[in-house]
Amino acid sequence: MPIPYFHRTPAFIKMLYPNLIWKGREDKKVIFLSFDDGPVPCVTPLVLDILEKAGIKASFFCVGDNIRKYPEIFDQVINAGHSVGNHTYSHLNGWKTDVNHYVQDTQKTTDQILKHLPDWKPLFRPPYGRISRAQIYALTPQYPIVMWDVLSGDFDPNLSKENCLNNSIKATREGSIVVFHDSPKAMDKLEFALPAYISHFLKKGYKFQKL
Ligand SMILES: [Zn+2]
Repeated sequence: MPIPYFHRTPAFIKMLYPNLIWKGREDKKVIFLSFDDGPVPCVTPLVLDILEKAGIKASFFCVGDNIRKYPEIFDQVINAGHSVGNHTYSHLNGWKTDVNHYVQDTQKTTDQILKHLPDWKPLFRPPYGRISRAQIYALTPQYPIVMWDVLSGDFDPNLSKENCLNNSIKATREGSIVVFHDSPKAMDKLEFALPAYISHFLKKGYKFQKL
């Protein structure tokens, strides 16, 4: 059963949650690349390598348990000058998790991040984009909550790597926040689509920035 999702987040969803961050300004040729679910061996270093070759910075929304397991890969992300965000400790689905547990799990990840990066600028992205209004209310004072404008679909086993690239290019516009995954299930598509995606927009005069 394919997972239903949109390559570009529809405007009505953004209007339902105006306090979440969906994209950047539309008057500048800037794209915000983001990578969810790392840090993990192989895939995160691959992404770091691609970004370094392109000379650009991005944002990594990290799972706390992966930071615990792979602290040296997390340090590589930080040392390369990318920004990092909190993606909960256990990759929780907010719609299936009570508020207190959700906040505690998020705080546990913040504690992990701060051990590596004491002056961390808080950023949070809910796994699956699923977060309740009560959870938003509980986290908002501490964290800007970052969603996305473009979902690459790199996690989708039914999407070819060519379509992953083409759909992502078509959905992207000025100010887009774009999601890829530094996760093993996305590796094949990422390896193909990410360098091509970046060079497509660099040739068109876009800049890539971290959040
Ligand atoms: Zn995730």
